[in-house]
Amino acid sequence: MSEPNPVVVVGASLAGLRAVEGVRRAGFKGELVLVGAEEQLPYNRPPLSKDLLTGIIEHDPLELCTAEHLAGLGVTLRLGTPATGLDLDAREIVLDGARLPFGSLLITTGSRPAALPHGGAPPQGVHLLRTVDDALALRDDLLRARDVVVVGAGFVGAEVASSAAKLGARVTVVEAAPAPLTRALGPTIGEVCGRLHELHGVTLRCGTGVAQLEGTPAVTAVRLTDGTRLSADVVVVGIGVRPDTGWLEGSGLDLRDGVVCDETLNAGHPRVWAAGDVASWTNPVYGRRMRLQSWTAAAEQALVAGRNAVAGTPTPCPVVPYFWSDQYGKRLAALGVPGAADEPHVVGDLHGLRFLSLHPDGDRIGMVFALDRPDLIMKFRRLVMTRAPFGDAVELAERLVA
Ligand SMILES: Cc1cc2nc3c(=O)[nH]c(=O)nc-3n(C[C@H](O)[C@H](O)[C@H](O)COP(=O)(O)OP(=O)(O)OC[C@H]3O[C@@H](n4cnc5c(N)ncnc54)[C@H](O)[C@@H]3O)c2cc1C
Repeated sequence: MSEPNPVVVVGASLAGLRAVEGVRRAGFKGELVLVGAEEQLPYNRPPLSKDLLTGIIEHDPLELCTAEHLAGLGVTLRLGTPATGLDLDAREIVLDGARLPFGSLLITTGSRPAALPHGGAPPQGVHLLRTVDDALALRDDLLRARDVVVVGAGFVGAEVASSAAKLGARVTVVEAAPAPLTRALGPTIGEVCGRLHELHGVTLRCGTGVAQLEGTPAVTAVRLTDGTRLSADVVVVGIGVRPDTGWLEGSGLDLRDGVVCDETLNAGHPRVWAAGDVASWTNPVYGRRMRLQSWTAAAEQALVAGRNAVAGTPTPCPVVPYFWSDQYGKRLAALGVPGAADEPHVVGDLHGLRFLSLHPDGDRIGMVFALDRPDLIMKFRRLVMTRAPFGDAVELAERLVA
């Protein structure tokens, strides 16, 4: 298999790396280019809110691969060069003011964090967290901070709160919903996760939002919508992420909540594919479109998309959603997708914060959540994948926890 024009992968992180590996595994011998906005080789983001912040690991161990690995795959690297446009008719991407032709294109540009609405640039000391540079800047500030406010009690916000508390700061987490993680886990489990913060001396303020950031040039306080004023020398905003598709505007690709793809991760043009946080694809396990923002999904999708981009017959990409998070020395993990707002069935010690919760989707198992039981969650993979009867999952959980 060789092409006059290269296979181009845009986005040089986890999905970009796995995509070039998938392309080569499929036997493609032609030119392969990996384009990345960041200067670094592909690196791992999960430690950015965990061990990197607390200083347990330094920069280098984050790397997902070496330059030699990419050279061995015959990958031409174009790092530090964000793509700014896509011309589908000409089959070219716009890069550094020049145009780079492609035979096939893989889009792996991931997502970027949402900012608080604030007229102009936010004051110093207000952080978003996505890149290693973001994490190192935040760590510098946290080491000097007395009062830290984390806006958003999602997984990344909760991990930052946990790390900041470990560094000795006084930490408050502000969450608009009545409890943390309610959208992902429902109110009962969300409240239990909220207790983790409180048990570690972190104040949790739910049901309120940020009205205003005070201080110039550096932040001094956060004014909440309920009128409370929280002193702050560091504010971390963790209110969710948006797919990084700005460079694709006007290209003709369907960009509703990410790059819309079919079951094979094809983006609606015969030569264009997407994978990872940026891809909103029809997951064959559920027969509906979803966009996952998790490590394992990005890795699994990108291998398939890489292969499909160069193989004769594309194959579908079924993924069982899986996410883990480390907070206050405990591992939280979720497998699957919850159904409507049905109450979960808990097996184990809910109040002792060591349990499995089984979340139904009608009469089937939708999702399994594990708090401090990392050893058990993957045992449910087949049941979740086949959307087995809910009772089968309950039986397995009771057998495993007994
Ligand atoms: C702080 C943090 C902690 C996390 N913890 C966990 C965890 O514990 N468990 C878990 O499952 N998941 C976790 N995640 C999520 C996980 O890291 C992501 O799902 C994963 O990184 C997605 O990989 P990706 O390659 O699709 O996107 P990304 O990692 O977002 O990479 C996209 C890359 O594309 C580049 N790019 C963007 N636009 C352009 C452009 N126009 N041109 C060129 N390059 C571009 C970006 O600079 C970036 O390097 C965490 C994420 C963060 C930020």
